[in-house]
Amino acid sequence: MLTALFGGTFDPIHYGHLLPAMALTKEVGLSQISLLPNNIPPHKPQPEASTEQRLAMLKLAIEDMPPVFSIDTREIFSDKLMQPSYTINTLQQWRIENGNSEGLAFIMGQDSLLSLPTWNHWQTLLDYCHLLICRRPGYAEKTDNAELQSWIDAHQTINIEDLHKTANGYIYFAHTPLEDISATEIRDNINNQQSCKDLLPAKVWQYIHTQGLYSAKKM
Ligand code: ATP
Repeated sequence: MLTALFGGTFDPIHYGHLLPAMALTKEVGLSQISLLPNNIPPHKPQPEASTEQRLAMLKLAIEDMPPVFSIDTREIFSDKLMQPSYTINTLQQWRIENGNSEGLAFIMGQDSLLSLPTWNHWQTLLDYCHLLICRRPGYAEKTDNAELQSWIDAHQTINIEDLHKTANGYIYFAHTPLEDISATEIRDNINNQQSCKDLLPAKVWQYIHTQGLYSAKKM
């Protein structure tokens, strides 16, 4: 069985994260999914929710989910909070802690895959993990970036067994459900006093309400 990290801002966490991740556990055979909230350094535009609020929402979100979900706080409690969290550093740290033989996957949506060339040392990510890509409505299946596309072509597998036979190195495009949900849409809906109860777990919705999050006006 494979362990996975699922990085994100989670401002807030929603079913567009949780439902594809749940489906992945069955499709690929994941023993654990650690939600990995990222650190946004002080000089960057900040998420609307504080780090503590993002973490509180993650905790509430997984309360009623299967025990496969956990939270990895290493990026938000790092001693390098002045820097953005670089996935490559997190993966390297994970390998130091867990060794090189255990399988590790990193989950991302199709939009993140398309933005990969902006990531620090993106071409070496596969030295540490497999990438599991979840489909996302509105994002192209192929990229215009020739370098990225040839990197994908060189590493893509359609065989789930490959993900279990080696500890890292493959890209797998999952057949996860298409969930047309984004945190931006949720924040906008709340600010416009529209309900988006069905887009995220009830406990997270309740928390947003009691904290008055994402709303310039009163909800
Ligand atoms: P925002 O709208 O604020 O940009 P977001 O909804 O994209 O946020 P993030 O926390 O930035 O959420 O995303 C974390 C990870 O989850 C990214 O890899 C992203 O691609 C993936 N993801 C987010 N929403 C979906 C979705 N609806 N379907 C598939 N993947 C998703």
